[in-house]
Amino acid sequence: MNQVATDYDEVRSDVKESQDNSLEALQSANAPDARSVVRELDEADALDDAVTPGGEFVAEELVVQVVPQAQDEFTCYSCFLVRHRSQIAREKDGHAYCTECEG
Ligand SMILES: [Zn+2]
Repeated sequence: MNQVATDYDEVRSDVKESQDNSLEALQSANAPDARSVVRELDEADALDDAVTPGGEFVAEELVVQVVPQAQDEFTCYSCFLVRHRSQIAREKDGHAYCTECEG
């Protein structure tokens, strides 16, 4: 009886140990891949952060500033929208401000 119980425990501990070993092997085998994937994602995110917000903002500002404006229009110096001169609420230092911004 004792002999059987001991053998049973040994078998179980062997199985458990081999399961632990294979789990460790899996984890150590997976770890480098997981880390490199995370690093690639971080680099992609950093690239997006560097390009998207700044690039779009600068491009948008340039487009607004080169919009051709007619004689009876002005570009509000606050919201940078082209508006009819009747909407000028204030002019200061050569810059006009629309009624919505000054309103
Ligand atoms: Zn405005």
